[in-house]
Amino acid sequence: MKSFDVMVLGAGMAGVSVAHALVERGRQVLLVDRQEPGEGTSYGNAGVIETDGFTPVTFPDDWRSLMRYALNRESEVHYHLKTLVRMAPWLAALRRHSQPDALVRYAEIMKPLILAAGTAHDHLAEQAGATGFYRETGWIKLFRDPASRKDAEAMMRDAYAAGTHCAEISKEAMAELEPHLRPDYHTALYFGGSRSVSSPGGVTNAIAQSVVANGGTFATGNAATLAWDTDNCWTVRTAAGPCRAPDAVIALGPWAKTLIERFGYRLPLEVKRGYHRHFVPSGNAGLSRPVVDMDNGFVITPMERGIRLTSGIEFAELDSAPTPVQMGRILPMAQALFPLDEPVEAEPWMGNRPCTPDSMPVLGRAPNHAGLWFSIGHGHWGFSLGPITGRLVAQAIVGETPDHPIDRLSATRFV
Ligand SMILES: Cc1cc2nc3c(=O)[nH]c(=O)nc-3n(C[C@H](O)[C@H](O)[C@H](O)COP(=O)(O)OP(=O)(O)OC[C@H]3O[C@@H](n4cnc5c(N)ncnc54)[C@H](O)[C@@H]3O)c2cc1C
Repeated sequence: MKSFDVMVLGAGMAGVSVAHALVERGRQVLLVDRQEPGEGTSYGNAGVIETDGFTPVTFPDDWRSLMRYALNRESEVHYHLKTLVRMAPWLAALRRHSQPDALVRYAEIMKPLILAAGTAHDHLAEQAGATGFYRETGWIKLFRDPASRKDAEAMMRDAYAAGTHCAEISKEAMAELEPHLRPDYHTALYFGGSRSVSSPGGVTNAIAQSVVANGGTFATGNAATLAWDTDNCWTVRTAAGPCRAPDAVIALGPWAKTLIERFGYRLPLEVKRGYHRHFVPSGNAGLSRPVVDMDNGFVITPMERGIRLTSGIEFAELDSAPTPVQMGRILPMAQALFPLDEPVEAEPWMGNRPCTPDSMPVLGRAPNHAGLWFSIGHGHWGFSLGPITGRLVAQAIVGETPDHPIDRLSATRFV
């Protein structure tokens, strides 16, 4: 049996970031995934590194929105009824965590991590030779429904109060910034502090390659084989044979829930599914940065494979068959904004945002098991946050004081 200092289960952005921070600290690391690194949710997101937003995605607080969503015909949210009923307690918790006092607490805990996310990406990108994926683009938030001007104004007020770089841009200025974006909106806000990448899966994979280049080991294997051995070690079966380590990090994103339940941890982890598809832009049309339609919940952004169109939220069971109805709804809306031509792939890609009701990840030591660690529940912002949460978890594992306290993000808040 091969021995390591730490095994990291899951090679999405959360897992590869912990693994990298550990090899940088001289640890012998085994990184395990059932696929190649960066082929889970971290493959298909919108690639925005958001470092200037401090409000989570909240439960709608007005009856008008709730009634709209209830009809299940909207582009932002789609649901499978059985899942929604099963998730009722989780949704009630999300509603509680959407109240003003909870949002203040969210900002207090998460703002330091969000502000540090950019430099954590810089560090990993340098180490992994992945800087070529990164673009200093900022991102644009568009408001199209006449009723949403007040939402845009509230967002501007919040941004100014938080000291964020946010500017309303006129249609003339937009014609300079994004000449092929059609003026089918009433308000455009430019958030200049955020960045984007041209391939989130490429970045994640490059970090995994760098783990190996720095002495770590990657092996394919099934994390469900994790067991606590009699000689105080965690064991896992991999294609390279059985492996052991005194410390094991669960970084399985949306797939963490079933495994940790086996060890007695019933955490409120649910998935919000999302889809993407790439399109060829018409003629010589080009897009330089991510653009989000705030009223319809989709993003268009330039990626290596074409213009990536990502969908809003779908409540459905993890690993149940895809139902990409939202893609059909948002495509004409996106085409009204930007000339998208043929799709690149035959079918949309589907991913699963791993979400907690308080919209904060679960980080650090598992309360009841020696040497078991969590880095899960990164929700809507796991691509942005992975490098910083990875470093904090690695620091805790090796006994350093984490750069930012993670006690309030521990699983103990739920168990
Ligand atoms: C449409 C969409 C758009 C998004 N846009 C953004 C964005 O712009 N910016 C942002 O910051 N975030 C975004 N997100 C969220 C972000 O993608 C996720 O938070 C992040 O990818 C989660 O990373 P993770 O490492 O926790 O999970 P994953 O990337 O899913 O990694 C989990 C890994 O576990 C592995 N695994 C699962 N089961 C097993 C098993 N039994 N054995 C071994 N391995 C296993 C999987 O193969 C996978 O590689 C978006 C998400 C979606 C769906």
